[in-house]
Amino acid sequence: MSNLGLPERPLRVAVIGSGPSGFYAAEELLLGKVKAKVDMFDRLPAPFGLVRYGVAPDHPKIKNVIKVFEKTAVHPDFSFFGNVKVGQDISFADLRDFYDAVIFTCGAQTDNKLGIPGEDLAGSYTATEFVAWYNGHPDYRNRTFDLSCEVAVVVGQGNVAMDVSRILCKNPEELKTTDIAQHALEVLAKSKVKEVHLIGRRGPAQAAFTPPELKEFGELPDCDPLVNAADLNVNPESQEELDNPNNAPKKKNFEIMKEYSGRPASGKSKKFVIHFCKSPKELKGNGHIEELILEKNKLSGPAGKQKAEGTGILEEIPCGILFRSVGYRGVPIPGVPFEEKRGVFPNLGGRITEGGQVVLGLYAAGWIKRGPSGVIGTNKPDSAETVNNLLADIPSLKPCTKPDSQAVLALLKGKGVKVVSFDDWKKIDAAEIANGQKNGKLREKFVKVEEMLAVLK
Ligand code: NAP
Repeated sequence: MSNLGLPERPLRVAVIGSGPSGFYAAEELLLGKVKAKVDMFDRLPAPFGLVRYGVAPDHPKIKNVIKVFEKTAVHPDFSFFGNVKVGQDISFADLRDFYDAVIFTCGAQTDNKLGIPGEDLAGSYTATEFVAWYNGHPDYRNRTFDLSCEVAVVVGQGNVAMDVSRILCKNPEELKTTDIAQHALEVLAKSKVKEVHLIGRRGPAQAAFTPPELKEFGELPDCDPLVNAADLNVNPESQEELDNPNNAPKKKNFEIMKEYSGRPASGKSKKFVIHFCKSPKELKGNGHIEELILEKNKLSGPAGKQKAEGTGILEEIPCGILFRSVGYRGVPIPGVPFEEKRGVFPNLGGRITEGGQVVLGLYAAGWIKRGPSGVIGTNKPDSAETVNNLLADIPSLKPCTKPDSQAVLALLKGKGVKVVSFDDWKKIDAAEIANGQKNGKLREKFVKVEEMLAVLK
């Protein structure tokens, strides 16, 4: 194994973020193509990013991927530096001194806005904050969600919107053995929500959710999924999309919705109503949302590129709470180029660029590279592409001046930062699982950083 232009020492890479794209990048770096050392930084003591704080608590199988990440985490050339805030505890300039290359895998941490009047009224929330709250993210544990109303609206038709809707449609009995945060379980147990309306700006052939997520609603014990049969009379362009073999999941969605539209009323206590071709125009209310004004749309454009166009016809849904779930965006890091329009770090195959020119030594993978798309597994080839481009760049990389992880730890210690290693995390992990067992849950997450650190004292 030769490290080409680098001195006779391992390639040193810092990975910023410990979600799926970070772990897949580390795994690829440690395959043995070159001698490499990987230090992974996360601002929280707990690793796994979106797997821990994004995946729905009632989808535990998706979290099994953690077992794959753990294999990487115990590799002798891998270190986890948890509870370290890059940009605050360690500067970006320091990272450049300590590492030959930096891979940003920090995801898309904020959400898109609807840009309509009334969007900031009380009772209007983002899916991001609700998901992070019920998943016990320390930054969101103090959020409050008033579920004392009967009608909730979720805007957007991706899988995040489906997760939020499903959590609202399930009864607490169905959630109580999961790793959902206890504070959320208690609020959901008192929820008065009886109807959840899912709003899509385009038609049933374009909905972004996937068939397994849609199918789950048909199997809920206390909730009926409702689809208006008239919405399934699609235009010829949508039919062409459905007939395209590349769109098999959309066709499957369509078949599931057809089945839902023909179901007789069962009298279950909750309803999940799927709306198509409607765009939010305004949220109205006296200090708190009371109704959502929607404009009906028609689709225009060729198959595969149809857009929603307003018709001027309005309708309203009286509602007490609304969650917008219309996509995520990345946030800038000082000193790293940022593409405002897409909310990503501009890059070519993961090589970060500035003004179209590659910035040597800086890389991106995952949502901050390609935008918020795909499932967890999508990040594996995405991270591999970035890492292989990094490896190809080795001859031109500028070797770092302080190739020493102990010096990184000393710097952080000097600043009073309690760095959480992977062994430390395993102690926190064991304590969470033990706490969960006491209540018949998979785990009880610590929702305060101090609680996690207290386990290590
Ligand atoms: P998404 O799949 O991109 O869906 C975004 C939705 O928002 C689309 O329905 C989109 O409609 C709609 N939208 C965007 N702008 C809008 C606007 N101004 N007004 C009304 N609607 C608007 O995004 P996501 O749900 O945030 O999910 C992100 C990624 O994570 C996806 O790849 C998703 O599959 C994945 N994920 C997977 C799982 C799982 O596997 N169980 C769970 C959660 C998330 P248009 O189509 O018209 O643009």
